[in-house]
Amino acid sequence: MKNNNTGLTIPNEIIAQTNLGDEITLQTFPSVMVLKGTKLTALEVLQVIEALESVTDCLYATLLNKFPKEDDCDDCTFCEGFLEDCVDVPDWAKEVCGIDPDTKLCICAEQDSGRILLEPTDYEHDITDIDEDMLEVLADIGICLGELNESIMSKETIYHV
Ligand SMILES: [Zn+2]
Repeated sequence: MKNNNTGLTIPNEIIAQTNLGDEITLQTFPSVMVLKGTKLTALEVLQVIEALESVTDCLYATLLNKFPKEDDCDDCTFCEGFLEDCVDVPDWAKEVCGIDPDTKLCICAEQDSGRILLEPTDYEHDITDIDEDMLEVLADIGICLGELNESIMSKETIYHV
C-alpha cells in the first residue's frame, strides 16, 4: 500500500477480512496507526490484543536479530550499567548556559583535567529517548543497547517489508 497525496486507500476486500463493522476508530502513534471497530465484544477485544502481540513479537524479533547481545558487549558500556550511569541535567542549568531545555547533551570527559563537560550533541536522537522500562525489557531479551544506540543515532532503516 502506498501513502500518496490523495491519502491512504484500503481496498474493501481487506477491510472485509477484519470484521471492523461500519464504525471505525483510528488511533495514531509515532510510526504506526491502528484502525479498529468502535464496538467490540470481549472475544474481539482479545483478538485485537492477540493481533497487536503478534505485531509486537515480530518487531522484537527484528531488533533481536539486528542487535543481539554478544560476548564482546564489554566494549559497548551500554549493556553494563547504562541506566545507572545516566545524568539528568536540570532545565535551569541549560537555561543559564543559553541552551534550549529540549537540547540533547553528551558527556565529554577531559583526561586528568578534573572536569567533565556536557555539550550539545550533533545528532538528533539516541537511546536516552527510549523509556527506561522499555530499555530494561530490551536488555532482558538480549538486545545490545550499544548497537541499538548506534542505530538510533544513525537513523538507519532496520525494518523493511
Ligand atoms: Zn552491548
